[in-house]
Amino acid sequence: MGNFFSAQVLMNLPMGEKAPVLTTGAGHPTGDKLNTLTVGGRGPLLVQDNVFIDEMAHFDRERIPERVVHAKGAGAFGYFEVTHDITQYTKAKVFDRIGKKTEIGVRFSTVAGEAGSADTVRDPRGFAVKFYTEEGIWDLVGNNTPIFFIRDAILFPSFIHSQKRNPQTHLKDPDMVWDFWSLRPESLHQVTLLFSDRGIPNGFRFMNGYGSHTFKLVNAKNEAVYCKFHYKTDQGIKNLSVEEADRLVVQDPDYAIRDLFQAIAKKDFPSWTMYIQVMTFQQAEECSFNPFDLTKVWPHSEYPLIPVGKLVLNRNPENYFAEVEQIAFDPSNMPPGIEPSPDKMLQGRLFSYPDTHRHRLGTNYLHLPVNCPRKMAAVSNYQQDGPMCIFSTPSNVPNYFPNSFTSPQHDQKCKESAFSISGYGDVDRHDSSAEDNVSQVRVFYKKTLNKEERQRLCENIAMHLKDAQIFIQERAVKNFREVHPGFGNRIQTLLDKHNQACGKKEPLHNYTRCSS
Ligand code: NDP
Repeated sequence: MGNFFSAQVLMNLPMGEKAPVLTTGAGHPTGDKLNTLTVGGRGPLLVQDNVFIDEMAHFDRERIPERVVHAKGAGAFGYFEVTHDITQYTKAKVFDRIGKKTEIGVRFSTVAGEAGSADTVRDPRGFAVKFYTEEGIWDLVGNNTPIFFIRDAILFPSFIHSQKRNPQTHLKDPDMVWDFWSLRPESLHQVTLLFSDRGIPNGFRFMNGYGSHTFKLVNAKNEAVYCKFHYKTDQGIKNLSVEEADRLVVQDPDYAIRDLFQAIAKKDFPSWTMYIQVMTFQQAEECSFNPFDLTKVWPHSEYPLIPVGKLVLNRNPENYFAEVEQIAFDPSNMPPGIEPSPDKMLQGRLFSYPDTHRHRLGTNYLHLPVNCPRKMAAVSNYQQDGPMCIFSTPSNVPNYFPNSFTSPQHDQKCKESAFSISGYGDVDRHDSSAEDNVSQVRVFYKKTLNKEERQRLCENIAMHLKDAQIFIQERAVKNFREVHPGFGNRIQTLLDKHNQACGKKEPLHNYTRCSS
C-alpha cells in the first residue's frame, strides 16, 4: 500500500508544489533512479544495487493468475438502499429498515475472453455485487441472465473448456462450442437468450442483473422461503447491433469499461432496482418444474417481482488492480437470513469461488481492503498466519476454541435454519439431462420475442453454428426443432445457404469422431 499511496500523493500534487522524494519499496529515499550501479561506465551491474533490484524484482511479480472465467471486467462502488420492507422474509440486517444504506462494490465482466479481449462480444455478462453489511460480506455473484447453460456443477470445467481456446491450436473452435451445447440440451434456454438481442448489451449500464440461483431467505422466527434476486436497470435496456458491436471490437475494445468509468466520472450514476421472487416450500414441492434448476426461470405471473431497493454506483476505483482485479466474490459469503438452496450449480460454486481466490490471491485474500468486511463487522475468529497475513489474533485472547477465557463465542441466533432431507431421495449420481429442457425456451421464442427479434435470433445462431461441422449442426438444429419446429427449420434454411457457399468444412482440430 505504501507505493500505492505515494503514487496518489504524486497524482494529487497541486501545480508548483515540491514533489516528494522517491523511495524504494522499503521507504529508503533514492538518490538516482535513472542509472544502475555498475563497475565503471561500461561495466557489469552490482548485486548491491538495491534500487534496481527492488524495482525489477517487484516488476517481475506484477501479474497474478488471470481469472479462468470472467477475466475481463470493470468495477465500481456505491450503495444499496432499502426502499421496501421484506423483513417478513429475511432477518438479514442489510434489509432491516427502509432507507438503510449499505456500501457495495460491483464487478461487471465478459465470461470467455481473456483479460485483454474485446468488451462487445456475444457472451453473458457477469454482474457480481459485494455488500459490505454489518454482519459481514454478502456476495451476490450473478450474471445479466436469469439462467445458465448447465444445471449440474460437475459439467462446469468441461463447459468452459469448450468455450475457450483449443489446447493445441490456441484457437476458439466452433466444433467444441456446439458439440458441447448440442450434447447437453439443457443449454438451449441460455443459448437462445445469448443469441437474442440481449446477447450483446450496450456496455454494462443498460442491462439487467440476476442472482440467477435459487436462494433461501430466513426471517427472525426462523421461517424460510426460497427466493430469486433480480436487479433491473433504471437506464433502460440497450443492446448493440451485430454490426456496431463488430465495429467496436476493432475501434474501442474497452468500450464497456470506458462507458462505465466515464458515466460515473461525469456523475451520471447508474442504478438498478432490486426485486425478489419468493416461493414457499409448499409451492416448491408442487412446482411443475424443478425450482432449483439453474436453466429455469420462475415465471413472473406465478412468482411476481417484489420490489426491495436500489443499487447505485457513484464511485470509480482509485486503483484498478487493488480494487477490481483483486476483488473476490464468493457465493458462500451470506449473512444470517440468506442461505443456499439445493441448487446444484450454486452448491458447486460455494466451493469453487473461495477455492479459486485462495489460489489466485492467497490464503489471506479476505485481508485485502476491497474484500475485508467493514469495521462494523469486525472479524473475530481463531484463524491465524499464512502468506500476507495482515490481521493477527489479539494477544489478550487464546488462539483456540473452546477455551475458558473471554474470547469470541458463537451465537445460537446466527445458526443456519435447520431443514429436513427426508424428501430428497437416495444418494446417487442422478442424471438430470432428460429433465424438461424446452418448455421455457418455447415460451421465450413464441411469446417473449416479436417477429423481428425471432428472425435476428435465428440469423445470429446460424452465423455462429455455420462454422461447426455438419453432423454437429444437425444435432443442434434437432434440439432447436424440439423447442419449436419453426425455430429449427428457420436456422436450417439459413445454414443451408451458408453451407452451400462455404463447401466442405475442415475441422480446426484433429479429433477422431466417436462411432456411437
Ligand atoms: P414475462 O413476460 O413476465 O417476462 C419476460 C421476461 O423476458 C422479462 O423479464 C423481460 O425482461 C425478459 N426479456 C425480454 N426480452 C428478452 C431477451 N431478448 N433476452 C432475455 N430476456 C428478455 O414472462 P415469464 O416470466 O413467464 O418469462 C417468459 C420467458 O422470458 C422465460 O421463459 C424466459 O425465457 C424469459 N425471461 C424470464 C425471466 C423471469 O425471471 N421470469 C427473466 C428474463 C427472461 P424486461 O422485463 O427487463 O424487459
